[in-house]
Order: sequence, then C-alpha cells, then structure tokens
Amino acid sequence: MLEITGLEAGYGSLGVLRGVELKVAQGEVVALLGTNGAGKTTLLRTIAGLHRASSGEIRFEGASIAGMPAHRIQAAGLALVPEGRQLFPEHTVLENLELGAFGTLMRGGRDQFKEDLDRVQEMFPRLKERAHQRAGLLSGGEQQMVAIARALVSRPRLLLLDEPSLGLAPLVVDAIFDVFRQLRQAGTTILLVEQMAHHALALCDRAYVLGSGRVQISGTREEMLADERVAEAYLGRRSGAAQPTSS
Ligand code: ATP
Repeated sequence: MLEITGLEAGYGSLGVLRGVELKVAQGEVVALLGTNGAGKTTLLRTIAGLHRASSGEIRFEGASIAGMPAHRIQAAGLALVPEGRQLFPEHTVLENLELGAFGTLMRGGRDQFKEDLDRVQEMFPRLKERAHQRAGLLSGGEQQMVAIARALVSRPRLLLLDEPSLGLAPLVVDAIFDVFRQLRQAGTTILLVEQMAHHALALCDRAYVLGSGRVQISGTREEMLADERVAEAYLGRRSGAAQPTSS
C-alpha cells in the first residue's frame, strides 16, 4: 500500500532522512521507533506532503505521491494525526470534525459525514458530550481524541499517527490504544510513531527503528521483541527478561 525507497529529506544543510526504505501492506499496523531527533516526524510529514523530500520515491497504492500537495494526498486516502494535535482551538469539536470531512462535505456527502460522526462518537463518547465546546478548552486527552476522530472522518485507507500518547495520562493512553486495537481489528492500515515502545510493539504487526537517517532495525513484532538492541534501547529491559504479551 505504501512503499518508500531511498527517501532523503532535511532542513537546509541538515540531512535528516538519508535513504529510508519502508513498506506498509494493506491491513498492517507498522510501528516506527527511534530516538529523539531521529527523523520520525519528518518522515510522516514528508509522506503526508507537508515537507518536501530532496530525493527518493513514495508510492501509495502504486502511484507516486512524492511532491504532491498535502490536500491531494489526503484526498488520495491518507490521513495524518500530527504530533501536538494541531486542532483549530477557537472552533468547536464538531467544526474541527467537519474540517476533517471537508472533501466529503464538499461533494454533498452530509449523510456519509453523519454516519462517520456517529462512528467516531461511539469510539470516543466524550466527543459527543463536548460536540459544541471549543476544542482549545478540552483536556489534552480529549484533544487527541478529536485529532484522531478528525482523521477518521476523512475515511483514510492509511492512517499516520505521530506520537499519539505524548503528554497524556496513562489511563488516557490505554483508552486511545484500545481504539487503535479496534481499528486494527476492523482492518485499518496504520503507520504509528510512538515513544511508548511497549504500547507500539503490543499493537503492531511489524516495526522499524529509525536512526542516523536510515532504517537500522526492522522485523515482525516477534522479531523486534526478541531483539536485544530493541529491548535495551526501547523496552528498558535486558534480553531474556519477560516480554509484553500479545494483544
Ligand atoms: P522526536 O521523537 O523528538 O519528536 P523525531 O524523530 O520525530 O524526534 P524530527 O522531529 O523529525 O525527529 O526531527 C529530526 C531532526 O530535524 C532534528 O534534529 C530536529 O531538530 C530537526 N528539525 C525538525 N524540524 C525542523 C525544522 N522545522 N527546522 C530545522 N530543523 C528541524
């Protein structure tokens, strides 16, 4: 579904991505790990068309999307839940969700939006209670729910999630990962950047570790959990210790 080859990107003279190779197949949940500053956000933003690659190829469902404007990439079926949520704080929750469904609504798809709204409000009941409240007044966890719901109402075929647990209380993180598990069971394809590696590895089918601008380690969930380098750098345990159980 997504195929990235030889991707290079950076900021001015700073090279951040230096030949990234990565694939996500339909229906897969793929986790992307890496230390701070490894380039994970840059990679997701480049895929979503918010940052320009200097070279390399990004193919989505067979077609090249490298260099395409972000709104066309979104219309092609790819949605990013950005780090820091980036909601419109002065607009209500409902208005933020309508912006996510802009394409659907422009095509006169009110009924489709209503259906999608019901679905995301069932996933996150708090969003129904808060529908007419300004998004900027919500808690961090509620804002993250709006950001995820805003992406889902665009009916993405590939969902890109950038650090969804950032700054949230453990119970909220658990609730959000429960929703990701539901999405996974429903067959949603996900590329997930997540600092909480134990959560990411409990959810994913495969994972990549990004470092020095390239993929340094990749493998199935089981291979990653058994990898000493992953265990020590991301799971805070030495190899041979107990491993997280499957979801
Ligand atoms: P984190 O886990 O801390 O969010 P990350 O892996 O997502 O990190 P990026 O945010 O992609 O990493 O940043 C990669 C590198 O690019 C870092 O060295 C960062 O300082 C630099 N960088 C990111 N955004 C910009 C920018 N707008 N201008 C200049 N440098 C940037």
